[in-house]
Amino acid sequence: MPELFIDGQWRAAHDGGTREIRCPADVSNVIEVSEATAQDAQEAIEAAKRAFERGQWRSTPAVSRGRMLADLADKMEAEIEEVARLEALDTGKRMVEARIDINDVISVFRFYSTVADGDAGRIVDTGQEDVVSKIVHEPLGVCALITPWNFPLLQTSWKVAPALAAGNTFILKPSELTPSTAIWLMGALDELGLPAGVGNLILGDGGVVGPVLTESPDVDMVSFTGGLVTGRGIAASSAATVKKVALELGGKNPNVVFADADFDAAVDMAATGIFLDSGQVCSAGARLIVEESIHDEFVDELVRRAGAIRLGGPFDESAETGPLISAAHREKVEKYVENALEEGAELRVGGGRPTDEQFTNGYFYLPTILDRCTSGMRCVQDESFGPVLTVETFSGATRDQAEDQAVKLANHTIYGLAGAVWTRDGGRAERVAARLRHGTIWINDYHPYVAQAEWGGYKQSGIGRELGQAGLDEYREKIGRAHV
Ligand code: NDP
Repeated sequence: MPELFIDGQWRAAHDGGTREIRCPADVSNVIEVSEATAQDAQEAIEAAKRAFERGQWRSTPAVSRGRMLADLADKMEAEIEEVARLEALDTGKRMVEARIDINDVISVFRFYSTVADGDAGRIVDTGQEDVVSKIVHEPLGVCALITPWNFPLLQTSWKVAPALAAGNTFILKPSELTPSTAIWLMGALDELGLPAGVGNLILGDGGVVGPVLTESPDVDMVSFTGGLVTGRGIAASSAATVKKVALELGGKNPNVVFADADFDAAVDMAATGIFLDSGQVCSAGARLIVEESIHDEFVDELVRRAGAIRLGGPFDESAETGPLISAAHREKVEKYVENALEEGAELRVGGGRPTDEQFTNGYFYLPTILDRCTSGMRCVQDESFGPVLTVETFSGATRDQAEDQAVKLANHTIYGLAGAVWTRDGGRAERVAARLRHGTIWINDYHPYVAQAEWGGYKQSGIGRELGQAGLDEYREKIGRAHV
């Protein structure tokens, strides 16, 4: 079956090109999909533009648009095992994680099914009896939605759900490595009656089809999640047509542990924060910043736990984490660790591939801890996007000095996506959290998020917010209408 979805039709790429998708856990064949050309991408843009101009979707009442999103959530819930299986095969992640991801996707569609009809705009008090002014919400137009491989359907839902709720048309471009759940999604929307051209799917190499989307004068917005370098390029190529750009570019997230923290809970979540999904999480707690007085005990315990983590593929129920996404990505992680050791980091555990025969085909890498790092090191500043934790310490003769030092280290990064603070002192938790320049701060926890709460970063972690009310506002304009 050809797998590009353009103007309501499934079709092959213009040049007949295809790509084989392989499971990162054992390199087994998952699916062969069409690989779009630049011409296919251009045709998808034209279809989305025609659909927007026809106006069928944007003139559908918001409550009916919301109903389709709710129906989609119901369908996904009914088929969750199949959707999770597709996600697990493409990414190599464990079924248990894939199920959690798809449940989160369902929550995102349910949330956006209810918000768009709750706010039609407002009447402005002009102060003049004969002048009426109102502000109404309008969709932006054609949106290019470019998503990564780590949470394929989840990152897609953060974009597709608000884009549709607001009445836009879109072209979805998932990572070339993980197309299966995007194919499922487009099939489901088609089955539920989304008008032709409103949702279009382009599979293929980002370097080939990406610029067609970002440079097009007919695309009104680009929403991108992925790497910093790609994001910078997208911002630059979108600038020529002054289109709206939303970017989610990852982070180098500090996990700050004070000596008075609940030791077991903090160790537990320090491990989960970095080793979940093999560290391929934009908000991974990749920098442990621990108070010097508990460093030895804390890191020893973390090393013990990291060394005991069981690796495995999607259907291995004893596995606790999975492989990296590709051979190229594992090589990047290996190089990162090599460089860190050259810089003087101390390897406490991991630092290589597992030797057990069952892992030889997959792209596995051992949970790794690099101790005695300092904030000037590249390994502390650069994202590894793998299961690699760096450890820094802080101390202070007074309460304020300890807090100042912890905050200074935690903010010493070009990123600002997420972070955490661990302490039993409620005042300290609030003081430190308020000074951390990161978009989400967890207090005595790591990783939870909800569809109702905005998500996004400071600094080079991105531009704009996803989820919550602001996540919807990214996809609509406030238009003034005034008359005498
Ligand atoms: P990329 O940033 O290259 O890929 C993300 C998406 O952008 C993919 O769909 C990709 O397509 C597409 N893309 C690539 N080039 C262009 C372009 N010129 N124009 C438009 N779209 C483009 O991520 P990688 O997969 O290469 O990962 C690199 C790094 O990105 C990781 O190591 C990690 O640091 C970071 N990352 C961050 C994520 C986050 O959640 N913030 C998620 C994933 C990665 P294609 O797959 O076809 O190349």
